[in-house]
Amino acid sequence: MAIQVNKQFLDKDQVGNMIEWLAAFGQTEHGGVTRLLYSHPWLEAQHALKNKMDQMKLQTHFDSVGNLFGRLQGTDTSEKTILTGSHIDTVVDGGKYDGAYGIIASFVAVLRLFETYGYPKKSIEVVSLCEEEGSRFPLTFWGSRNICGEYTLDRVKDIKDAEGIEFLEAMKFAGFDPHAYTSPVRGDIERFIEIHIEQGMVLEKNENQVGIVSHIVGQRRYTIRIKGESNHAGTTPMQYRKDAVTAASRLISFLTEKTNEVDPGLVATVGRLHVKPNVPNVVAGEVEFSLDIRHHQERIIDQYCGEIFAEFERVTKNQEMELSISKWMDVKPVEMDVQTGELARKIASKKNIRYQSLISGAGHDAQVFGDVCPTTLLFVPSQQGISHSPSEFTSLDDLEVGIDLLTEVLYKLAY
Ligand SMILES: [Zn+2]
Repeated sequence: MAIQVNKQFLDKDQVGNMIEWLAAFGQTEHGGVTRLLYSHPWLEAQHALKNKMDQMKLQTHFDSVGNLFGRLQGTDTSEKTILTGSHIDTVVDGGKYDGAYGIIASFVAVLRLFETYGYPKKSIEVVSLCEEEGSRFPLTFWGSRNICGEYTLDRVKDIKDAEGIEFLEAMKFAGFDPHAYTSPVRGDIERFIEIHIEQGMVLEKNENQVGIVSHIVGQRRYTIRIKGESNHAGTTPMQYRKDAVTAASRLISFLTEKTNEVDPGLVATVGRLHVKPNVPNVVAGEVEFSLDIRHHQERIIDQYCGEIFAEFERVTKNQEMELSISKWMDVKPVEMDVQTGELARKIASKKNIRYQSLISGAGHDAQVFGDVCPTTLLFVPSQQGISHSPSEFTSLDDLEVGIDLLTEVLYKLAY
């Protein structure tokens, strides 16, 4: 059956209309979007997208966890597919662009390509990934990790959301009965291309229209606990104290200053601090703090951790305190496909698009695909770097430039 492209999709205003259309599923009173995995708004959005893809006669299907695919069949006999898209879920009261833009951009790009050039040699599939954010259940990248074979139902069998609803129950509610689960692993993906808002302000500050991502950073998270001695704030002389707050503040100052010394691109954040007993007139006996470390080279993260933890040991030992360091997250850095990045740069230059290379400090589905196939991640600017908020905004012009570049990259790869 021939693809039928409604002419409106070729129109620039249509991209803005589609952003608003998709944002209506799960719209919040603040003008944001809450579309949590397997919720009503999530379900409505996935089915509305499927209807739109069906109207255009793309070959659509859901896999057994709820990833939605719309395929433009290639003329080549090879079974390989170019996958392009992003995620449909949002954080609570998130923005209209995070994830949604990547799906819409891929959809519009495929329709425009068909309208101009007809069927591609290689099949292209638009994907609306079911989950990336980890906003409802305590896991992330459920969609892409199923496609890439990293997760199966086993991973979620004991997981519940904040209301106590089991993951598998929620899945069933959305029409994806776990008993009917068949592996969503795709062995036919030649490459993955995602376009996303930057969620930072680098492009805006540099007045660039597009970012071509070279790496997605690795992330390590720790919980650090220092145990000293709780004591009277008036009767304990300073030299006899084992004050966990004083020790923690030394460690935090040290780790903060050390980042730039190890590498200017390294970031480390202590975002959470618990003090015990947390009372004004008592010397604190215990402090626990979080530590989030990110860089795009693992050896830099290793070096940094080695140096700061040695200092942590030294300081706490000197003060006769106990130290415990527990790592609970370790995501490796991922390099994006160099050749496609080069292709995107060439196209951008030719089209007079202002672009730059970027390292993504945030996680994306592209990092999951990047482990199994050549992967490309493109960014468009986020106004004031704001994301995960109803104030998230990217201008129509910037959205359009991103789609233009994505379309051309897909053309070079598939036609
Ligand atoms: Zn996202």
